[in-house]
Amino acid sequence: MSKLLVIGCGGVAQVAIQKCAQNSKIFTEMCLASRTVSKCDALKDKLEKQGTPVKITTATVNADDVKDVVRVIKEYQPDAVLNVALPYQDLAIMDACLECKVDYIDTANYEPEDTDEPVWRAAYEKRCKEKGFTAYFDYSYQWAYMDKFKEAGITGLLGTGFDPGVTSVFVAYAKKHYFDEIESVDILDCNGGDHGYAFATNFNPEINLREVSANGSYWENGKWVETRPMEIKREYDFPQVGQKDMYLLHHEEIEALGRNFPEIKRIRFFMTFGQSYLDHMRCLEDVGMLSTTPIKFEGKDIVPIQFLKALLPDPASLGPRTVGKTNIGCIFRGKKDGKEKTLYIYNVCDHQECYKELGSQAISYTTGVPAMIGTALVLSGQWKKPGVFTTDEFDPDPYMEMLNEFGLPWVVDENPVLVD
Ligand code: NDP
Repeated sequence: MSKLLVIGCGGVAQVAIQKCAQNSKIFTEMCLASRTVSKCDALKDKLEKQGTPVKITTATVNADDVKDVVRVIKEYQPDAVLNVALPYQDLAIMDACLECKVDYIDTANYEPEDTDEPVWRAAYEKRCKEKGFTAYFDYSYQWAYMDKFKEAGITGLLGTGFDPGVTSVFVAYAKKHYFDEIESVDILDCNGGDHGYAFATNFNPEINLREVSANGSYWENGKWVETRPMEIKREYDFPQVGQKDMYLLHHEEIEALGRNFPEIKRIRFFMTFGQSYLDHMRCLEDVGMLSTTPIKFEGKDIVPIQFLKALLPDPASLGPRTVGKTNIGCIFRGKKDGKEKTLYIYNVCDHQECYKELGSQAISYTTGVPAMIGTALVLSGQWKKPGVFTTDEFDPDPYMEMLNEFGLPWVVDENPVLVD
């Protein structure tokens, strides 16, 4: 029996909300709140027509404004807030949860919308020098809430999507059941889906293009090693998808895993991209369309990447036209009982199956299902402890069981092909 406030109603949120409705033993009441409330109303109607037993209400919220989030929390009195808006809103929503003493859950690391803001920029440049990676996001801002959340007696569960989220749970599960010591982890994110467009992004274009056009980096012997964008390329033959090119990227779970599993000597993250995607991205970057700095156009300030977002297909609309499968997982090397051991844990998800079930494509599906699972485990008390944590810091077993139960079954291969 619990009341959940969900903030955001985009591609990921729509899956998370529909999955919460499938788990009505835990989620008895939900308030769907977002900037564009009509999307919340449409989803409420859809679920009610399907006869959901969950009592649903909707609200308008500006999640950039702590006071407005506090207003909605005070009006609704939820047991937890699931933030599936954008990473830009993480801190405002965490502040509101703190003020109201309500548990907080999200799927992505805080990053600022305006990367030219002077105070943030100064701290960022200092961090780049000290830590040696230049991504716009890092955990320091959210980990700084540890003591405040502990004092308030509330839980903050950070990054319960697929990657980060499930990939970090796979690491905790491998450590618990298969290894005495893990030496290396390669996280492989393959999207073998085809939506038929020359160029489109599978989740929020602004967040996606920022991530992919940035420098890559990996964790080795307790330090970051940074690379140029797309500098390290490998090919891999993914089970149920086939041979794909993949490129090393910086990714947020590496930072948490590097801190929480100091025994792991190397952690890398690879994502597959087709040539058309890379060609378009390079061209857009070269002409300045990926910039987040406002420019004057006919007397108005416009942010190039936001204008580009308006031109690109809405990721939530890709569902009906995307065919093929995703394969996301982790390859481990380490030791068990003194012997060398390798292991691959992965999930394969079919875009069209997701569309048939919930009307969405597999990227939103593979993020929205774990968002529901993490929230359910906090609300049921299984993953509730005061403070701020990533998904690798809890018992992985109930999460792994729920992945099987709620549409993301996983495979364990004890003889995988390794990435060189
Ligand atoms: P979308 O852009 O589709 O949806 C974002 C939603 O947030 C929209 O409903 C939007 O409202 C709402 N929103 C944006 N700003 C505000 C605001 N200030 N106040 C209230 N609501 C707001 O994004 P996605 O669904 O693709 O992504 C959601 C989150 O999931 C992101 O944080 C993304 O980084 C994360 N993600 C995580 C992954 C993982 O594996 N961990 C993978 C993929 C995504 P409106 O409808 O008005 O635009």
